[in-house]
Amino acid sequence: MIIHSAPQYQIYFGDAKDQMFPDEYQNWNNSNILSRLPIQPIAQRLHLGALFFLHQVHGANGMVISPTNIDAVRPLKYDGDFLITQELNVGIGVLTADCLPVIIYDRKKHVIGIAHAGWRGAALGVVIEMINRMKQEYAVSPSDFTIFFGPSAKQCCYQVDSQFEVHFETYPYAQKALLANGNALFFDLPFFIELQLLREGVAQDAIRKEYNSCTICDTRFHSHRRGVRHGDPTIVGRQMTVVTIK
Ligand SMILES: [Zn+2]
Repeated sequence: MIIHSAPQYQIYFGDAKDQMFPDEYQNWNNSNILSRLPIQPIAQRLHLGALFFLHQVHGANGMVISPTNIDAVRPLKYDGDFLITQELNVGIGVLTADCLPVIIYDRKKHVIGIAHAGWRGAALGVVIEMINRMKQEYAVSPSDFTIFFGPSAKQCCYQVDSQFEVHFETYPYAQKALLANGNALFFDLPFFIELQLLREGVAQDAIRKEYNSCTICDTRFHSHRRGVRHGDPTIVGRQMTVVTIK
């Protein structure tokens, strides 16, 4: 577990030790999630008054948490893959096991966003959609963004088949994120997202990758790929990434 603490915001990067398993948290819909383990101590440390996750579906839609809906929204109830808010002390999070958590903080408008981006979401442009929604709601400019990548599958381990690139036909630059090693092909998911962000106008040095460990070879993290390789993907938990503004 790592907490990245900045004067205006905090990010919680969880790991496998949090014991988050879908069988359990899927049933949290109508309960007060702040009082549950493992959330309770984390919520306390981050001074959260509320915490939201979505029911993630590897799509490109998401939700804004605003004063008009904050009391009605229930955690984990709605389908979607990004959350945005300008509310103070409200946590927004994603649950991942190889997919990439992408956190955006807008330095001028003091708005945060977090997306769950696996290869499907990346191909659908989930991060671009999140940025479009942030522009719509808060008139943000990507040149004011600070971006963090959480832990994800990386090119050292993220092998894909030879047909993989058909999913990225609309992105000519996706080739740069596909690396051949002998007969094997590897996908650099964080680099592909980085290329998307740069095209949106995010500054290169605003993309922070120090928390982007590889979930497949770093066993501190849950990994769907590693779970499948060991024959039992059903026991794979998720790591939690949560951002909040102060
Ligand atoms: Zn690796």
